[in-house]
Amino acid sequence: MTDERMTDTTATPMTSAATAPAASPNPRTMVLELEDVHTFYGNIEAIKGISLEVAAGEIVTLIGSNGAGKTTTLRTISGTHRPRTGVVRLNGQEIQSLPAHELVSHGLAHAPEGRRVFSRMTVFENLQMGAFSRPKEPMDADVTRVFDLFPRLRERRSQKAGTLSGGEQQMLAIGRALMARPTVLLLDEPSMGLSPILTEQIFTIITDINAQGTTVLLVEQNALMALNVAHRGYVLQTGKILLADTAANLAANEQVRQAYLGEI
Ligand code: ATP
Repeated sequence: MTDERMTDTTATPMTSAATAPAASPNPRTMVLELEDVHTFYGNIEAIKGISLEVAAGEIVTLIGSNGAGKTTTLRTISGTHRPRTGVVRLNGQEIQSLPAHELVSHGLAHAPEGRRVFSRMTVFENLQMGAFSRPKEPMDADVTRVFDLFPRLRERRSQKAGTLSGGEQQMLAIGRALMARPTVLLLDEPSMGLSPILTEQIFTIITDINAQGTTVLLVEQNALMALNVAHRGYVLQTGKILLADTAANLAANEQVRQAYLGEI
Protein backbone atom coordinates (compact mmCIF):
# COMPACT_ATOMS: atom_id res chain seq x y z
CA MET A 1 0.00 0.00 0.00
CA THR A 2 1.76 3.12 -1.16
CA ASP A 3 -0.95 5.64 -0.37
CA GLU A 4 -0.36 6.71 3.22
CA ARG A 5 -4.02 7.65 3.62
CA MET A 6 -4.93 4.00 3.40
CA THR A 7 -5.14 1.85 6.50
CA ASP A 8 -4.24 -1.81 6.58
CA THR A 9 -6.81 -3.06 9.06
CA THR A 10 -5.16 -6.42 9.46
CA ALA A 11 -2.80 -4.51 11.72
CA THR A 12 -4.73 -1.46 12.92
CA PRO A 13 -8.00 -1.33 14.86
CA MET A 14 -10.62 1.01 13.42
CA THR A 15 -10.66 3.22 16.47
CA SER A 16 -7.30 4.79 15.72
CA ALA A 17 -7.21 8.50 15.00
CA ALA A 18 -5.85 7.75 11.53
CA THR A 19 -9.02 5.93 10.54
CA ALA A 20 -11.58 8.01 12.43
CA PRO A 21 -14.06 9.33 9.87
CA ALA A 22 -13.91 13.07 10.11
CA ALA A 23 -17.23 13.43 8.31
CA SER A 24 -19.09 10.80 10.33
CA PRO A 25 -21.75 11.89 12.78
CA ASN A 26 -21.32 10.83 16.40
CA PRO A 27 -18.43 8.45 15.73
CA ARG A 28 -18.09 7.32 19.33
CA THR A 29 -21.42 5.51 19.66
CA MET A 30 -20.93 2.18 17.94
CA VAL A 31 -24.19 0.51 17.00
CA LEU A 32 -22.59 -2.41 15.20
CA GLU A 33 -19.28 -4.11 15.94
CA LEU A 34 -17.70 -7.24 14.50
CA GLU A 35 -14.68 -8.70 16.24
CA ASP A 36 -12.57 -11.32 14.51
CA VAL A 37 -15.55 -12.97 12.84
CA HIS A 38 -15.03 -16.23 10.94
CA THR A 39 -17.91 -17.64 8.91
CA PHE A 40 -17.93 -20.90 6.98
CA TYR A 41 -20.04 -22.66 4.37
CA GLY A 42 -19.19 -26.27 5.24
CA ASN A 43 -15.41 -26.36 5.03
CA ILE A 44 -15.16 -23.16 3.01
CA GLU A 45 -14.10 -20.20 5.11
CA ALA A 46 -15.91 -17.25 3.50
CA ILE A 47 -15.12 -14.70 6.24
CA LYS A 48 -11.61 -14.93 7.63
CA GLY A 49 -11.43 -12.82 10.75
CA ILE A 50 -13.31 -9.64 9.96
CA SER A 51 -13.44 -6.79 12.48
CA LEU A 52 -15.41 -3.68 11.68
CA GLU A 53 -17.46 -0.96 13.31
CA VAL A 54 -20.44 1.15 12.34
CA ALA A 55 -21.23 4.26 14.39
CA ALA A 56 -24.70 5.66 15.01
CA GLY A 57 -25.81 7.80 12.09
CA GLU A 58 -23.22 6.57 9.62
CA ILE A 59 -23.53 5.10 6.18
CA VAL A 60 -20.73 2.55 5.93
CA THR A 61 -20.15 0.62 2.74
CA LEU A 62 -18.52 -2.73 2.06
CA ILE A 63 -17.04 -2.96 -1.39
CA GLY A 64 -15.00 -5.67 -3.09
CA SER A 65 -14.99 -8.11 -5.97
CA ASN A 66 -17.39 -10.99 -6.49
CA GLY A 67 -16.96 -13.59 -3.79
CA ALA A 68 -15.06 -11.25 -1.44
CA GLY A 69 -17.52 -12.03 1.37
CA LYS A 70 -19.72 -8.93 1.41
CA THR A 71 -23.05 -10.75 1.40
CA THR A 72 -21.80 -13.31 3.89
CA THR A 73 -20.79 -10.49 6.23
CA LEU A 74 -24.33 -9.08 6.14
CA ARG A 75 -25.84 -12.54 6.58
CA THR A 76 -23.56 -13.10 9.56
CA ILE A 77 -24.72 -9.86 11.17
CA SER A 78 -28.43 -10.43 10.55
CA GLY A 79 -28.36 -13.97 11.90
CA THR A 80 -29.25 -15.68 8.62
CA HIS A 81 -25.84 -17.39 8.75
CA ARG A 82 -23.98 -17.96 12.00
CA PRO A 83 -20.32 -17.18 12.49
CA ARG A 84 -18.21 -20.11 13.63
CA THR A 85 -16.16 -17.85 15.90
CA GLY A 86 -16.03 -14.17 16.72
CA VAL A 87 -18.34 -11.59 18.22
CA VAL A 88 -21.09 -9.48 16.66
CA ARG A 89 -22.51 -6.66 18.79
CA LEU A 90 -25.60 -4.56 18.21
CA ASN A 91 -25.80 -1.53 20.49
CA GLY A 92 -23.22 -3.15 22.73
CA GLN A 93 -25.10 -6.46 23.08
CA GLU A 94 -23.66 -9.69 21.70
CA ILE A 95 -26.05 -11.01 19.07
CA GLN A 96 -24.14 -13.74 17.23
CA SER A 97 -26.24 -16.45 18.89
CA LEU A 98 -29.65 -14.76 18.61
CA PRO A 99 -32.13 -15.93 15.95
CA ALA A 100 -32.67 -13.63 12.98
CA HIS A 101 -36.32 -12.85 13.79
CA GLU A 102 -35.36 -11.69 17.27
CA LEU A 103 -32.78 -9.28 15.90
CA VAL A 104 -35.51 -7.39 14.06
CA SER A 105 -37.06 -6.40 17.37
CA HIS A 106 -33.60 -5.26 18.49
CA GLY A 107 -33.60 -2.71 15.66
CA LEU A 108 -31.78 -4.58 12.89
CA ALA A 109 -33.33 -5.00 9.45
CA HIS A 110 -31.82 -6.68 6.40
CA ALA A 111 -32.88 -6.01 2.81
CA PRO A 112 -31.19 -8.96 1.09
CA GLU A 113 -29.91 -9.05 -2.47
CA GLY A 114 -32.13 -10.54 -5.12
CA ARG A 115 -35.14 -8.61 -3.83
CA ARG A 116 -36.94 -11.55 -2.23
CA VAL A 117 -40.34 -9.94 -2.01
CA PHE A 118 -43.45 -12.09 -1.48
CA SER A 119 -44.51 -12.17 -5.11
CA ARG A 120 -48.12 -13.32 -4.57
CA MET A 121 -48.82 -10.67 -1.99
CA THR A 122 -49.66 -7.08 -2.80
CA VAL A 123 -47.29 -4.21 -2.18
CA PHE A 124 -49.26 -3.26 0.91
CA GLU A 125 -49.28 -6.82 2.25
CA ASN A 126 -45.51 -7.03 1.77
CA LEU A 127 -45.14 -3.87 3.83
CA GLN A 128 -47.38 -5.32 6.52
CA MET A 129 -45.09 -8.36 6.67
CA GLY A 130 -42.17 -6.03 7.34
CA ALA A 131 -43.84 -4.88 10.54
CA PHE A 132 -44.26 -8.42 11.92
CA SER A 133 -42.01 -7.68 14.87
CA ARG A 134 -44.57 -5.27 16.38
CA PRO A 135 -47.97 -6.63 15.31
CA LYS A 136 -50.02 -4.63 17.79
CA GLU A 137 -48.66 -1.21 16.93
CA PRO A 138 -50.29 0.99 14.29
CA MET A 139 -48.32 1.10 11.07
CA ASP A 140 -50.04 3.86 9.11
CA ALA A 141 -47.22 6.34 9.68
CA ASP A 142 -44.64 3.77 8.58
CA VAL A 143 -46.56 2.97 5.40
CA THR A 144 -46.87 6.69 4.68
CA ARG A 145 -43.14 7.13 5.21
CA VAL A 146 -42.34 4.28 2.79
CA PHE A 147 -44.80 5.64 0.22
CA ASP A 148 -43.30 9.12 0.58
CA LEU A 149 -39.84 7.69 -0.06
CA PHE A 150 -41.10 5.51 -2.93
CA PRO A 151 -44.12 7.17 -4.61
CA ARG A 152 -44.17 4.37 -7.21
CA LEU A 153 -45.11 1.95 -4.46
CA ARG A 154 -48.02 4.15 -3.41
CA GLU A 155 -49.33 4.00 -7.00
CA ARG A 156 -48.97 0.21 -6.97
CA ARG A 157 -50.19 -0.36 -3.45
CA SER A 158 -52.72 -3.07 -4.43
CA GLN A 159 -50.62 -4.69 -7.15
CA LYS A 160 -49.10 -8.15 -6.62
CA ALA A 161 -45.40 -7.77 -5.91
CA GLY A 162 -44.51 -10.38 -8.53
CA THR A 163 -45.87 -8.13 -11.27
CA LEU A 164 -43.65 -5.18 -10.33
CA SER A 165 -40.58 -4.24 -12.33
CA GLY A 166 -37.18 -5.16 -10.93
CA GLY A 167 -36.60 -1.63 -9.70
CA GLU A 168 -39.98 -1.51 -8.00
CA GLN A 169 -39.32 -4.84 -6.30
CA GLN A 170 -36.02 -3.43 -5.09
CA MET A 171 -37.85 -0.43 -3.65
CA LEU A 172 -40.37 -2.75 -2.00
CA ALA A 173 -37.61 -4.84 -0.43
CA ILE A 174 -36.09 -1.71 1.10
CA GLY A 175 -39.50 -0.35 2.09
CA ARG A 176 -40.41 -3.63 3.77
CA ALA A 177 -37.18 -3.54 5.78
CA LEU A 178 -37.99 0.03 6.87
CA MET A 179 -41.38 -1.09 8.21
CA ALA A 180 -39.53 -2.67 11.14
CA ARG A 181 -38.35 0.84 12.13
CA PRO A 182 -34.74 -0.31 12.16
CA THR A 183 -32.02 1.68 13.84
CA VAL A 184 -29.57 -0.23 11.66
CA LEU A 185 -30.40 -1.16 8.07
CA LEU A 186 -28.35 -3.72 6.16
CA LEU A 187 -28.67 -3.18 2.43
CA ASP A 188 -27.32 -5.80 0.05
CA GLU A 189 -26.77 -4.63 -3.53
CA PRO A 190 -29.73 -2.22 -3.70
CA SER A 191 -28.73 -1.14 -7.21
CA MET A 192 -28.49 -4.64 -8.64
CA GLY A 193 -30.13 -4.82 -12.05
CA LEU A 194 -31.36 -1.23 -11.98
CA SER A 195 -31.08 1.33 -14.76
CA PRO A 196 -28.66 4.23 -14.15
CA ILE A 197 -31.58 6.58 -13.41
CA LEU A 198 -33.16 4.21 -10.89
CA THR A 199 -29.76 3.58 -9.35
CA GLU A 200 -29.36 7.34 -8.81
CA GLN A 201 -32.81 7.42 -7.21
CA ILE A 202 -32.08 4.50 -4.90
CA PHE A 203 -28.88 6.13 -3.67
CA THR A 204 -30.68 9.42 -3.06
CA ILE A 205 -33.26 7.52 -1.04
CA ILE A 206 -30.53 5.76 0.96
CA THR A 207 -29.18 9.20 1.85
CA ASP A 208 -32.70 10.31 2.85
CA ILE A 209 -33.22 7.22 5.01
CA ASN A 210 -29.92 7.94 6.74
CA ALA A 211 -30.81 11.61 7.20
CA GLN A 212 -34.00 10.47 8.94
CA GLY A 213 -31.87 8.73 11.56
CA THR A 214 -31.21 5.20 10.32
CA THR A 215 -27.67 3.87 10.35
CA VAL A 216 -26.87 2.02 7.13
CA LEU A 217 -24.42 -0.75 6.28
CA LEU A 218 -24.40 -0.93 2.50
CA VAL A 219 -22.98 -3.68 0.31
CA GLU A 220 -22.52 -2.61 -3.28
CA GLN A 221 -20.96 -3.70 -6.55
CA ASN A 222 -21.34 -0.11 -7.68
CA ALA A 223 -18.42 1.09 -5.61
CA LEU A 224 -18.40 4.61 -7.00
CA MET A 225 -22.02 5.29 -6.08
CA ALA A 226 -21.58 3.64 -2.70
CA LEU A 227 -18.52 5.72 -1.85
CA ASN A 228 -20.39 8.84 -2.95
CA VAL A 229 -23.08 8.38 -0.31
CA ALA A 230 -21.08 6.67 2.46
CA HIS A 231 -19.14 8.24 5.31
CA ARG A 232 -16.68 5.38 5.52
CA GLY A 233 -15.92 2.20 3.68
CA TYR A 234 -14.21 -1.15 3.96
CA VAL A 235 -12.67 -2.98 1.02
CA LEU A 236 -13.04 -6.74 1.31
CA GLN A 237 -10.86 -9.24 -0.50
CA THR A 238 -11.21 -13.02 -0.20
CA GLY A 239 -12.90 -12.86 3.17
CA LYS A 240 -10.62 -10.27 4.76
CA ILE A 241 -10.66 -6.52 5.16
CA LEU A 242 -7.99 -5.13 2.90
CA LEU A 243 -8.58 -1.43 3.51
CA ALA A 244 -10.65 0.81 5.75
CA ASP A 245 -10.92 4.56 5.45
CA THR A 246 -13.24 7.46 4.90
CA ALA A 247 -15.27 7.08 1.74
CA ALA A 248 -13.61 10.16 0.28
CA ASN A 249 -10.14 8.73 0.81
CA LEU A 250 -11.13 5.36 -0.64
CA ALA A 251 -12.67 7.03 -3.69
CA ALA A 252 -9.45 9.00 -4.23
CA ASN A 253 -7.14 6.04 -3.71
CA GLU A 254 -5.36 4.91 -6.84
CA GLN A 255 -5.51 1.21 -6.01
CA VAL A 256 -9.23 1.35 -5.26
CA ARG A 257 -9.88 3.35 -8.41
CA GLN A 258 -8.11 0.79 -10.56
CA ALA A 259 -9.55 -2.30 -8.89
CA TYR A 260 -13.12 -1.24 -8.08
CA LEU A 261 -14.00 2.00 -9.86
CA GLY A 262 -13.28 0.76 -13.37
CA GLU A 263 -10.22 2.90 -14.05
CA ILE A 264 -7.29 1.50 -15.97
P1 ATP B 1 -21.03 -11.26 -4.73
O1 ATP B 1 -20.90 -9.82 -4.99
O2 ATP B 1 -20.70 -12.12 -5.89
O3 ATP B 1 -22.34 -11.64 -4.07
P2 ATP B 1 -19.75 -11.34 -2.15
O4 ATP B 1 -18.60 -10.45 -1.89
O5 ATP B 1 -21.07 -10.93 -1.60
O6 ATP B 1 -19.87 -11.61 -3.69
P3 ATP B 1 -20.22 -13.83 -0.83
O7 ATP B 1 -21.48 -14.10 -1.59
O8 ATP B 1 -20.32 -13.47 0.59
O9 ATP B 1 -19.34 -12.76 -1.58
O10 ATP B 1 -19.31 -15.13 -0.97
C1 ATP B 1 -18.10 -15.30 -0.23
C2 ATP B 1 -17.53 -16.69 -0.53
O11 ATP B 1 -18.40 -17.66 0.00
C3 ATP B 1 -17.37 -17.00 -2.00
O12 ATP B 1 -16.21 -17.76 -2.17
C4 ATP B 1 -18.61 -17.80 -2.31
O13 ATP B 1 -18.36 -18.70 -3.37
C5 ATP B 1 -18.82 -18.56 -1.03
N1 ATP B 1 -20.25 -18.85 -0.82
C6 ATP B 1 -21.24 -17.94 -0.75
N2 ATP B 1 -22.43 -18.55 -0.53
C7 ATP B 1 -22.15 -19.87 -0.42
C8 ATP B 1 -22.94 -21.05 -0.19
N3 ATP B 1 -24.27 -20.97 -0.01
N4 ATP B 1 -22.31 -22.22 -0.17
C9 ATP B 1 -20.96 -22.32 -0.35
N5 ATP B 1 -20.15 -21.25 -0.57
C10 ATP B 1 -20.74 -20.06 -0.61
